[in-house]
Amino acid sequence: MPGYSMEKPVTYKIITLGCPVNQAESAAMEGALQEAGFQPAEETADIYIINSCAVTKVAARKSRKEARQARRENPHALVILVGCYGQVEHEEIKELVPEVDVIIGTTGRSRLPQIIDEYLKTGTRQREVRVQKHFRVEQYEEMGLSRYSRQRPVVKIQEGCDEFCTYCVVVLARGTPRSRDPELVEKEVAQLVAAGHREIILAGTHLGIYGRDLGDTSLAQLLKRLSNLEYPFRIRLSSLEPMGVTDELLEVMAESPRICPHLYLPLQSGCNRTLKRMGRRYTIEEFSAIVEKARALMPEVSVISDIIVGFPGETEEDHRESMEAVRRLRLSGLHVFPYSPRPKTPAARYPNQVRPDIKKRRVEEMKALGEELAFQFYQEQMGKELQVLVEKVKQQDGVARGEGFSENYTLVRFLMDRREAAKGSFVPVKAEKAYRWGVEGSIKRVGQ
Ligand code: SF4
Repeated sequence: MPGYSMEKPVTYKIITLGCPVNQAESAAMEGALQEAGFQPAEETADIYIINSCAVTKVAARKSRKEARQARRENPHALVILVGCYGQVEHEEIKELVPEVDVIIGTTGRSRLPQIIDEYLKTGTRQREVRVQKHFRVEQYEEMGLSRYSRQRPVVKIQEGCDEFCTYCVVVLARGTPRSRDPELVEKEVAQLVAAGHREIILAGTHLGIYGRDLGDTSLAQLLKRLSNLEYPFRIRLSSLEPMGVTDELLEVMAESPRICPHLYLPLQSGCNRTLKRMGRRYTIEEFSAIVEKARALMPEVSVISDIIVGFPGETEEDHRESMEAVRRLRLSGLHVFPYSPRPKTPAARYPNQVRPDIKKRRVEEMKALGEELAFQFYQEQMGKELQVLVEKVKQQDGVARGEGFSENYTLVRFLMDRREAAKGSFVPVKAEKAYRWGVEGSIKRVGQ
């Protein structure tokens, strides 16, 4: 790479797409690069790392676009594409994105600094593909401790899945389930909270089955262990497949004030016929039972979800049924996705693919329902005292405004006196007005 010399620090830029697991992996790669003497670029970088996503056609397209953008930004840069899209579509990337020099999949990223050194020492621009097949049984790849600038860091604790939902490419990208050593999880969480982070998000491909491969622990056990750490912080669970929710987990969440009363449970469809064709191992009745149990144990709990609309074979009646089920569940928020056929997945070959215009209309209907339910949830927060972790502080017309999320994942904005709250601290806010995006309130002052 022209201009590359061991004298001058080599700079890098990491571009992260996709899920919280990707965010955690990018933070770990950042830690490893800085450990190895690479420096974050202020502007143009010598090395670009695109941590890619393959979950939808749009995500794959964005990954390619970021690689092209990197090459435009610095024609001499080393462009590396890592992650899920690299793992499942490296042939396509080779064909469509000549801008990429090195393709790495979802294994081997812990060796990123060495891979870069080896590549740079070759002094050539030969394309390298370092994608390894996933094996039936695999060890968890420890990627080292992460470097975070954001307020609410994500800690990855699990990787892989063996559910084989018919639409899902993640299972092909991530391999079979494997869990991180609980000691290393505790070490990373302790390091992050000692560094002042006040909320830790735990993430995995199939979080709820954490520990199944280790035999002597579980997500519930891990939460108990982390709840004993002596710091003022809280734990939030990232997306949790309904198949992984146990009574023990809900009970541990309800017992520990440190664990946020918030569940992100991807339902995917409210219609049993569609759930069956998706290969989801629960019915809408079983999903509702989990939500009811969670609400009985944690009345303040918020339950948000993912819904796929326009799955092959979905009739108008199925769509109506799905909408009604979502309404009955009174979910607190929805992420709605139009079904996106993914290569190498069974559903991509199913008959009765839904026409794009019908899919589009159904997405709009489901999104509108999601916003209505979220607004209802925010209205239910009125008058309540919410523990907000301040993430943003803005000064406008001489008035300081704070913003952050409550324990049940309500976005809260509030006026404050600058001395009252700093970024990264908790403040009690009384919710006073509901909006489509969250609530506005005022800081609960002592004696109020
Ligand atoms: S549970 Fe299903 S959707 Fe989730 S990662 Fe596994 S196969 Fe994919």
